[in-house]
Amino acid sequence: MDKVFSSNIKTVHQLLVNGRITSTELINTSLLKAKKFKKFNAFITLTENEAKKKSEESLMRYVAKQPLSQLDGIPIAIKDNFCTSNIRTTCASQMLKNFTPTYDATVYERLINSGAILIGKSNLDQFAMGSGTVDSIFGPAKNHWGHEASDDFYISGGSSGGSAISVATGTCFAAIGSDTGGSTRNPASYCGLIGLKPTYGLVSRFGLIPLVNSMDVPGILTRNVDDCTLILNSIAGFDIKDSTSLKQTFTKIRLPPASKLNIKNLKIGIPCEYHCENLDKEILETWNEIAKLLEQGGAIIKEVSMPHTEYSIVCYSILNQCEVASNMTRYDGVEYGFRAKENSSTEKLFATSRSLGFNEVVRNRILTGNYFLLARNYENYFNQALKVRRLILEDFDRVWEDVQVVLTPTTLTTAPLYKEFVQNTNRDQCALQDYCTQPANMAGVPAITLPIKLSLQGMPISLQIMGRNLSEPMLLALAKYLENAVQFQHNINP
Ligand code: GLN
Repeated sequence: MDKVFSSNIKTVHQLLVNGRITSTELINTSLLKAKKFKKFNAFITLTENEAKKKSEESLMRYVAKQPLSQLDGIPIAIKDNFCTSNIRTTCASQMLKNFTPTYDATVYERLINSGAILIGKSNLDQFAMGSGTVDSIFGPAKNHWGHEASDDFYISGGSSGGSAISVATGTCFAAIGSDTGGSTRNPASYCGLIGLKPTYGLVSRFGLIPLVNSMDVPGILTRNVDDCTLILNSIAGFDIKDSTSLKQTFTKIRLPPASKLNIKNLKIGIPCEYHCENLDKEILETWNEIAKLLEQGGAIIKEVSMPHTEYSIVCYSILNQCEVASNMTRYDGVEYGFRAKENSSTEKLFATSRSLGFNEVVRNRILTGNYFLLARNYENYFNQALKVRRLILEDFDRVWEDVQVVLTPTTLTTAPLYKEFVQNTNRDQCALQDYCTQPANMAGVPAITLPIKLSLQGMPISLQIMGRNLSEPMLLALAKYLENAVQFQHNINP
């Protein structure tokens, strides 16, 4: 089974079709792996019984020789901020610890309709706020790379760290994360995975518990580009339940074999503003090496400028906090989630439920967001940040006149050690860790991260490719070209 779990989904599907393995064996092994790797804390809830039941149904479909989706019987994980009916959805928070939705997120519904099998809901930073998966009431999700690091461990990244670990340890083949400022790409980068943030609106947000509505997008984590494409093909496309969902029809992406991919004359930009002060030396070197490799392959490498990049993180943070302040008002201890034992007044019930139900990070963002939104501050903060967001968007628009994609680091460093990471505040960490990822969310453009090699310390180093809206076919093709060139070795048996 080890060999099966290191293959891609298409190969596993063939094995299922030929009857060499069965869906039940596949799911049982996946569940065993989830238990074996419990120490990494990837899952909040394992959906064991349901998964076993579904695997028997899938087996029947294969036995009946029906035409099936390649995802039929494939084990997947979903971040615990996507609603799943009859399966609790906690957002890793006290507030929603016992919340069981009555409906399904569209992304989940589409995957299940393709026959994919959910084995569990994965760990995250509370309400997806963070870059570490260190702020979960269920404890941190740990990176499986370098996990023997004495009394400490490397963080998995966040906020979709549990999703990343579930795929990186080969427990499942794909996982869904969410990406508001980098939460899919950041853990993908730290754990050595492919992480795709699709174009805003291409994949429905319905049923994704909102963080920043104007930036949230479901993200995909896999070990290879073909699997990522397959998942995107299953979840993308218009959804009437999401008013920000793009109306045009989505054409399924078909990638040629790696040997047929040609990058001759592809114009690739290297934005000089991403050479920032805290960029690790090894990451910088890797970035240069890959630019050279692409040039040798026939691409045209051009230095480009995106002058507003340095203001992006500050504006992201202001807009994030404003939308958080507004989104979180729904949690009042009455309608949803946790209710404090407090009955002296309605106001006290609200206040106590919210102060006990949210962690410090969430409370801070609500407080700051409300401050920015005060009538006297609104113009200076919220509106100003929106204006700068427009300039960031224009930086992207201008760059597409010169090049087709841009190549940047994904994160400024490899995964930090837990103790180092939590010494700083979450806010400082986000300012550092999201530097290269959040501009794509501010502009709404697609971005993909892929692992290149291991650092001298044995931790994955990854790079990011961004393109114009709906350029997923090109991003995936280029990522596949690079994946083939660098041959990154996964570590599914830590
Ligand atoms: N680290 C960022 C934040 O805390 C990104 C979060 C995300 O993408 N969900 O806001």
